[in-house]
Amino acid sequence: MTALPAFPPDRLVQAVAADDAVRVVAATTTRLVQEACRRHGSWKTATVALGRALTGAALIASSLKTSERVTIHIEGRGPIGTITAEANAQGGVRGYVRHPQTDVPLRPDGKLDIGAAVGKGALHVIREGGFEIGLMEAYRGSVPLVSGEIAEDLTYYLSRSEQIPSAMSLGVYMEAGDGIVGASGGFLVQILPDADEAIISRLERTIAAAPPITEMARAGATPEDIIREALGDLDWRPLSERSLSFACACSRERTERLLTALGADEMQAILIEQGQAELTCHYCNAVYRLSGDDLRRLIDAETAGAAS
Ligand SMILES: [Zn+2]
Repeated sequence: MTALPAFPPDRLVQAVAADDAVRVVAATTTRLVQEACRRHGSWKTATVALGRALTGAALIASSLKTSERVTIHIEGRGPIGTITAEANAQGGVRGYVRHPQTDVPLRPDGKLDIGAAVGKGALHVIREGGFEIGLMEAYRGSVPLVSGEIAEDLTYYLSRSEQIPSAMSLGVYMEAGDGIVGASGGFLVQILPDADEAIISRLERTIAAAPPITEMARAGATPEDIIREALGDLDWRPLSERSLSFACACSRERTERLLTALGADEMQAILIEQGQAELTCHYCNAVYRLSGDDLRRLIDAETAGAAS
């Protein structure tokens, strides 16, 4: 088996441009998309769709405060099913696609047909936060899917639902033949209320003239390189950076709490019917197995707790 080439760690850089009238975020996500693909065993089309959604979530999460997270649900009626991608302010990203082992015919131009794989439907974005003080304030926005190509859909969502004129570009490059993620990245440009018309039309030109994001990522572009290409000769300065990685919050303890929440009767029923319990985390595909003895221990603890 040939070893994968070593990719630099995934990074996200946030910057402002044109006297703070423009916000720009760029990210490289090759490693985290490789990890998502490995965990879910996803085929090419599903990998690209999931990789774009994960990258989009990471870009949107760049504006979050410490304990917040954002979740993107792409609820398409196409063959790959719903895509869920979540990112937090620490740079942790996780997600899954309902039918990862799905491919669709290529487009006439020979490219993967992500729009057809996702299909028509809706995009939902949920922002949550304040977990440390027991608050889960959620902001929810939904728009119909424009093309199912994901970057266009997220751009439409940000402009329409959050009312910030935005341009997002996402790209995942699959190596020919073997289904390995060769490169992945994206950028988001947002126009703040102070921007004048001249800046906006200049940006439209530079973004249109920038090389495709897959091409930049394949050439080893850093987030700073991507920002430079997207902004052309506009002045910009970096504000912050963070590393990104595929990270899931699931654990054996959480799985036990989840089972306990079902109640002693339900756990008893699982014990009788299955002799054990096996739970799979949707987000990262980790499997947690609890033996009959583990279940009996949880049932006893729950019964004792309920009796006291
Ligand atoms: Zn997990």
